[in-house]
Amino acid sequence: MPDDLAAGARSAQQPAPLVIRGLRKSYGTKEVIAGIDLALAAGECFTLLGPNGAGKTTTLRCALGLTAPSAGEIHLAGLPVPERAREARMRVGVVPQQDNLDPDFTCAENLLVYGRYFGLDDATIKGRIPELLAFAGLEGKREARIQTLSGGMKRRLTLARALVNRPELLILDEPTTGLDPQARHLIWDRLKQLIRGGTTVLLTTHFMDEAERLADRLAILDNGRMLTEGSPREVIAAQIEPQVVEVYGDWNGSGANGSAGVSGAQAWAEAHAGSFSRRYEVSGETAFCYLDDAAPLLAHLAKQPGLRYLRRPANLEDVFLKLTGRELRD
Ligand code: ADP
Repeated sequence: MPDDLAAGARSAQQPAPLVIRGLRKSYGTKEVIAGIDLALAAGECFTLLGPNGAGKTTTLRCALGLTAPSAGEIHLAGLPVPERAREARMRVGVVPQQDNLDPDFTCAENLLVYGRYFGLDDATIKGRIPELLAFAGLEGKREARIQTLSGGMKRRLTLARALVNRPELLILDEPTTGLDPQARHLIWDRLKQLIRGGTTVLLTTHFMDEAERLADRLAILDNGRMLTEGSPREVIAAQIEPQVVEVYGDWNGSGANGSAGVSGAQAWAEAHAGSFSRRYEVSGETAFCYLDDAAPLLAHLAKQPGLRYLRRPANLEDVFLKLTGRELRD
């Protein structure tokens, strides 16, 4: 079934699904996109990661011709945007951040009405509705009204709706935000099916596990700039030490213990972390030690009875926090 839904993805001689060069966007005096380059290869899943306000949605909106860039070149499905955005969007599927299904219609009617925007005739759309509902796991909900669906069902229907025109490229803005783990896994499973079937996928997320699961390549954005780009493994290898030891708990080291406002881990880190770690950060009650070889630190920690620790390989979240900082965003 995904093979049928992805039929558009396999047409011969496709242009690059999306090419962005030197994209800039300002609102008033505030530059929110400050020079982004991006080229998607057919069939890949590319993920834009970034904290709130990084510029992910604006990048997608510019790519689709929904927001006018201040500078830069965009080609979507081989066509210049914004000049030929409407035509280009006919070959693209979009899952927006907020579900915008029509609450007055049933699931099947939503698919029908949406399909008409693409100039598809009713018979063609009706022929596709069973496979779209099956893809969304909503076979039994054909005549159900939107307000009777759970959040996860609405997301799945929005995803299925984005496939009504058999797009070459599927663009998703935070597809699993607000979903419970079961619903997230189902969306991931469906996206993997589509990617396997040849559909190119561009998605934004602030969930590292989502990016690690789905992305062939990813970029981390902040303040309208790409801070790093590559496969998840490449980004981790290039940006961060391979081992992490998180240290927390009580420390009975000389002098520093019990200082006002200083956690045991912080006091320990100030005294010792630098001699074992290439880099360390203290956040709240925890010291994060980044190292090439954790063994000497673990031997030291074994002799500190009050401290607790967790050793793990470095992951994308470590890279994300290193590059974008630990301060809260709005
Ligand atoms: P993200 O999707 O990464 O959370 P956005 O692209 O939505 O980030 O926003 C990037 C920045 O642009 C934010 O600071 C946001 O407030 C600002 N912004 C987005 N849209 C508008 C707008 N229409 N007018 C003014 N500022 C905007």
